[in-house]
Amino acid sequence: MGPRDVFSELVGQDEPVETLRRAAAAAARIVAGEPGVGGMTHAWIFTGPPGSGRSVAARAFAAALQCERDGSGCGECHGCHTALGRTHADVRFVVPEGLSIGVNEMRALVLRAATAPSGGRWQVVVIEDADRLTEAAGNALLKAIEEPPPRTVFLLCTPSTHPDDISVTIRSRCRVVSLRQPPADAVAEVLALRDGVAGDVAAWAAAASQGHVGRAKLLAADPDARSRREAVLAVPRRLTGIGACFDAAAALIEAAEAEAAASVAESDATERASLEQALGAGGTGRGAAGAMRGAAGQIKDLEKRQKSRATRAQRDALDRALVDLAGFYRDVLVTTLKAPVAVVHGDTADQAEAAARKWSPESTLRRLEAVVACRDAIEQNVKPKIAVEAMMVTLWRG
Ligand SMILES: [Zn+2]
Repeated sequence: MGPRDVFSELVGQDEPVETLRRAAAAAARIVAGEPGVGGMTHAWIFTGPPGSGRSVAARAFAAALQCERDGSGCGECHGCHTALGRTHADVRFVVPEGLSIGVNEMRALVLRAATAPSGGRWQVVVIEDADRLTEAAGNALLKAIEEPPPRTVFLLCTPSTHPDDISVTIRSRCRVVSLRQPPADAVAEVLALRDGVAGDVAAWAAAASQGHVGRAKLLAADPDARSRREAVLAVPRRLTGIGACFDAAAALIEAAEAEAAASVAESDATERASLEQALGAGGTGRGAAGAMRGAAGQIKDLEKRQKSRATRAQRDALDRALVDLAGFYRDVLVTTLKAPVAVVHGDTADQAEAAARKWSPESTLRRLEAVVACRDAIEQNVKPKIAVEAMMVTLWRG
């Protein structure tokens, strides 16, 4: 790996990094007042599969735009530091708390983005899940992208440029940076060199996470994450009858709920405490009754936001479990077909081999497709319990 500049977190993405470096250098020349500089543009879309580093890339680029050393993204100056740490006055992040980004949030942001950058460089807006823009919010954003103020840059992160993820009109106004799923050896290398993970653990976690850098890091460091994964991979051998299918479905959903609850509990409590503190502990003076009514409304709003965040976290946890499960059936197929590729889950390779002897390739494929169909159904808002139960039955029968 090269020196630790702002792009060093991007694993196995040489080509996109080169594009972003060139653009940031051009941006710095525009700031310096050089005429006729090309290579920089006002609206960017970062796409790539989960874990490929879409938001990491957007944040690195935002930092390079604020870098005080000719837009090199040195990682050392004040501009780089504050942008990466999300405290730079001219870099704003939109992270949906719930399932979507609403129009009010977007309008407020567009308004702020139109002001001149206080640091004299660029006003940067990073929208981390642009696929979750409501239609109205998308329209508000489109207006700003169509007529951008001279020093404003929009960085949008979405899984793909499919119209389901981002509107065709927004897409047509943006330059697209496509990140790829980093190869397992690149992920293992970064875990070992950057995070000091032992070589064999790094190699295992990189393979088991299927190219998802954040997940690999978690698996390498967190015993709870490892045991949740083991429970998921135990599912195939537990499916011995129809009753077992329903038990396994319930267990999978409960585990996702527990994981999600643990992941949001701390921020829920902190937010609640700081809101209550801001509202004061009651009061008896004139106007106190009115203030209390207002306070009740704010607490209700917070509870609503927290509830939709919890729902999102549950879906994400369940989706990770399904990806692990799909990896197992893929391993069975790879083993059956003697394909010259590595298995995803090295620790269940024996089980995959046993299954490969027992099942025909067609029936393994049906199982793999059942996992994919379950993910799609949940994405289409089918109740998780119904989708997972249907999947388990196919996983059992084949
Ligand atoms: Zn810098």
